[in-house]
Amino acid sequence: MKISIIGSGYVGLVSGAGFAELGHEVVCIDKDREKIALLEQGQVPIYEPGLDEVLARNVKAGRMRFSSELSSAIVDAELIFIAVGTPTRRGDGHADLSYVFAAAEEIAQELRHDCVVVTKSTVPVGTGDRLVRLFGERRPDRRIDVASNPEFLREGSALDDFLRPDRVVCGIRSDTAREALTRAYRPLRLNDPGLLFTGIESAELIKYAANSFLAMKITFINEIADLCEEVGADVQTVAKGIGLDGRIGGKFLNAGPGYGGSCFPKDTLALLRTAEMAEVPLRLVETVVGVNEQRKRAMVRKVLKAAGGSLNGKTVGVLGVTFKPNTDDMRDSPSLVVIPSLVAEGATVQAFDPEGMENARGMLDNVKWATDAYAALAGCDVGILMTEWNEFRALDLARVGKSMKGRVFVDLRNVYDGDTMAAAGFVYVGVGKGVLSETEPLPLAEVT
Ligand code: NAD
Repeated sequence: MKISIIGSGYVGLVSGAGFAELGHEVVCIDKDREKIALLEQGQVPIYEPGLDEVLARNVKAGRMRFSSELSSAIVDAELIFIAVGTPTRRGDGHADLSYVFAAAEEIAQELRHDCVVVTKSTVPVGTGDRLVRLFGERRPDRRIDVASNPEFLREGSALDDFLRPDRVVCGIRSDTAREALTRAYRPLRLNDPGLLFTGIESAELIKYAANSFLAMKITFINEIADLCEEVGADVQTVAKGIGLDGRIGGKFLNAGPGYGGSCFPKDTLALLRTAEMAEVPLRLVETVVGVNEQRKRAMVRKVLKAAGGSLNGKTVGVLGVTFKPNTDDMRDSPSLVVIPSLVAEGATVQAFDPEGMENARGMLDNVKWATDAYAALAGCDVGILMTEWNEFRALDLARVGKSMKGRVFVDLRNVYDGDTMAAAGFVYVGVGKGVLSETEPLPLAEVT
């Protein structure tokens, strides 16, 4: 099947590689000529584990190519996916749909045959309907079926998520779109309801509801972590205890510095704007957004407290700056709030990230970039583990201890065990790790 994908970012490239791996003929299109030139030279402009190999294999097999010329790249496409960005619109929190509609206008202008156009970008409910009307007005001479196929891949394991999805959601209004999407995904051999057909509006909303729910789960455990610290409980044990309940599930229950990344922050905000316009307030999601914002600043207070109340003149070593491991994506990473706040408190910050530093350099000023984790921690008064990259999980603690000036280690991902760290001579502070001896007895309700 011939598939064209407009937008060759995290989603476009991974989906393109995935469809090619399934045997389809794919063209990945991007208006960024530099990006396309890199791809044509066999280089991958983003870091996503395994993506370079799959792209190379499929380019070699003649199933995949790249183009910055939309008109020639969609010439015989049976399916055209729109996978351009939908960032937060400046000022009002709505999803910025300008890239989606620019791509749609270009399709409308260039298309010479009947086709199915699918939004893979995360778009607010109602966007598909607007696209149906746009194509109807611009190209009454052609049959252009619109569908919505939101993407659920997670950066860091994106290819695997694409090739082994929990479900594929397809919002459709016609048998033609159903048939085309079925053919595209048939090689995955998904059993019903693995391939879930819905109306376009439901598909669009499923994506936002899913991301908001996951953001809520993270925020829930973060608040429970705060309570754990006050009452002598351990949030990892609590998370395990609740996660074993099949109705709850153990995933997305890791307490930390607050969610970030290219999806949850913008999608929760955009869902709130949609809800406002529909006059259906989503108070839970509103609270999640507010609590998560405060959380990043609370992490700075945690570091300040661990450092004895002041960071002025102190050196802080930060391990990891991306919003999660195995990606170079810095969009809305908590480190973008935490690190500037540490600097504002008078700290000198030295940091290391295995893949994120190139992107981070343009987003974080006044940071000394180190060559590895040990160099980032050398000479520091305080160490902070911000992102749980595997290579930070088994540091030589004796080496770290010797090279640091102080011994305070703030582990915002609960990678290390407090007893081991204490035995290695560190003043260890995790997240949601209540110490009974440090908590005031709670005034319990009177027994009557
Ligand atoms: P991205 O910014 O990495 O990539 C978007 C690409 O589209 C860019 O390379 C840009 O140059 C290109 N582009 C924009 N307008 C274009 C046009 N008219 N013609 C050709 N190319 C154009 O974005 P992303 O992270 O891949 O996200 C894309 C969409 O997928 C967003 O809606 C996002 O919410 C959604 N999504 C992202 C993820 C994720 O983990 N990144 C997961 C699921 C869904």
